[in-house]
Amino acid sequence: MAKKKVATKAEREHMSKVASLGCLVCQRPANVHHIRPIGLGIGMRSSHYQTIPLCREHHQGQFSIHNCKQQFEAMYGTEQEMLQKTLKEIENLERINDFFGEK
Ligand SMILES: [Zn+2]
Ligand SMILES: [Zn+2]
Repeated sequence: MAKKKVATKAEREHMSKVASLGCLVCQRPANVHHIRPIGLGIGMRSSHYQTIPLCREHHQGQFSIHNCKQQFEAMYGTEQEMLQKTLKEIENLERINDFFGEK
């Protein structure tokens, strides 16, 4: 069995930001889905940063990334594309917070 790495504080904060974006597909309240990592060297620190927000249905429901991955990716984009989108949105959020001086 693979070892499960415990998330650091920064990682947990990142994941709660990811979840706060809402489901990438339908904007409903979301949990984070850890995507399948592809190699190293794209500036990713750990698998906890390779997470995307998905609601329960799009995460683990009948037609979800876990149950119908191929169809899911064909309709909504690959995990990597969704990850890029997620990271962009978080970047935008952080820029807004900086602008208003929230620390
Ligand atoms: Zn959804
Ligand atoms: Zn998942």
